[in-house]
Amino acid sequence: MADPESFKVIIAGGGIAGLTLAHALEKAGVDFLLLEKREIAPQTGASIIIQCHTARILEQLGIWKEICAATFSLTGRLHFDERGNLFHSSPIFEHVEKATGRPIVLIERRFCLDTLYNGLKDKSRILTNTGVASFWEDEHGLTVLTDRGDSIRGSILVAADGVHSTIRGLLASAVSNTDPERCQYLTKGFTSGYRAVFGTSANGTRDGLTRPLLPEGIVHHAYYRNISGITAAGAKGLLFWFLFIKEEKSSTTSDCPRYTETDAIATIEKYGNLSACPGYTFRDLWEARSHGGMVSMEEGVIQGPWNNGGRVVLVGDSICKTTINSGFGGNLAIEGVCNLVNGLVSLLQRNQTPSTKDIVATFDRYEQVQRPRADVSVKISHSTTRYESMDSLWLRFLRWLSPWIPLSYQVKSFLSYMDPAPILQFLPDSEPGRP
Ligand SMILES: Cc1cc2nc3c(=O)[nH]c(=O)nc-3n(C[C@H](O)[C@H](O)[C@H](O)COP(=O)(O)OP(=O)(O)OC[C@H]3O[C@@H](n4cnc5c(N)ncnc54)[C@H](O)[C@@H]3O)c2cc1C
Repeated sequence: MADPESFKVIIAGGGIAGLTLAHALEKAGVDFLLLEKREIAPQTGASIIIQCHTARILEQLGIWKEICAATFSLTGRLHFDERGNLFHSSPIFEHVEKATGRPIVLIERRFCLDTLYNGLKDKSRILTNTGVASFWEDEHGLTVLTDRGDSIRGSILVAADGVHSTIRGLLASAVSNTDPERCQYLTKGFTSGYRAVFGTSANGTRDGLTRPLLPEGIVHHAYYRNISGITAAGAKGLLFWFLFIKEEKSSTTSDCPRYTETDAIATIEKYGNLSACPGYTFRDLWEARSHGGMVSMEEGVIQGPWNNGGRVVLVGDSICKTTINSGFGGNLAIEGVCNLVNGLVSLLQRNQTPSTKDIVATFDRYEQVQRPRADVSVKISHSTTRYESMDSLWLRFLRWLSPWIPLSYQVKSFLSYMDPAPILQFLPDSEPGRP
């Protein structure tokens, strides 16, 4: 009999989910190899809010200190109606920080990825410009074929390859004849009814803007019919902003639009005159951008199972996609990784060479824990997107009512969302507070 192979995780994708997984496995002493189709941390102009419960995980991984040093806490939200009147000012973030002992911060997605990457001890385990093209399994493990033509051996394959996941596509093809319903879930699992133009701009003093548009830590919300906007001064000297627009027609993956810069420019031509908040428009923000773009906002949770009944499992945006408004997607990806790694580490503590059956049971348990979080996150984000763009008469009424909703209730709801989030069970918990 051949010697059992030592356990090795192949990760497809070096985004938020993939790099967090690499970190957690490095800390757990589990062998891995991460394949990223492009470069690590490309500049797209996108940003990411790090919520308090995710900060706790990043601190366990040892990278929270660096993120914290480049940011300041978000403190308050100012809400403006379609005429530019301030109708609600809320210090909610400040109160959540007080309650949890951890700040909510907003950073460039690229900076987050760079920090994750730089914090890894062994960079030889990261292969860039190498995509997963296909795989095949046997009793002892699997072999991944890369788009460069190399074969790589591993024990399991974790698909952290984003909303347009190649691996989800491969799983769908594998069952297209035998199980058309599952194939449909995998290929058509997300819908999109909104698009988002987004960007990172200097907070004043550059490219036509002569003064900081927003004080540090403040988030501006603008409400229009079927349109909404968010502008936030998160990291030092930078503004992160979004313009959300309801599509005339909703679409389903894989037919959701893939927008180009020309599409973004045309959208700004059409809607850029709207005030993002008193004193500046979305066009001002677009013109002051260092980077920006436009994406279709897919949403949904792929119906199970999130594994192929073998050695392949999906994490992050590849199985769950939230709209951007609530800032949950990347945080949820980190939670999912946390739940998956907790299961894997516990499995490997019991058996260094687990059978395919044991592996599938671990994948199933990860899904059991993560699916309710995914469902609730998609639901909240879905409602927030519709609420902010006043998508119905009821939501217009709710917006009018919102200043009277007690702050204590809003804080409690926020905390009740964060409370069930996991931590890495095999690492010491971190202390609250800014490091
Ligand atoms: C404008 C914008 C703002 C956002 N703001 C927030 C926010 O404030 N808070 C929040 O929590 N979330 C936010 N999100 C969502 C968040 O960015 C995503 O949920 C998160 O990036 C998902 O991470 P992921 O690793 O699953 O996927 P991705 O980040 O998409 O990473 C997938 C990676 O896999 C690679 N890849 C693809 N195919 C292959 C292959 N075959 N082989 C190898 N590699 C492959 C890709 O190149 C990519 O690097 C925002 C998203 C956008 C677009």
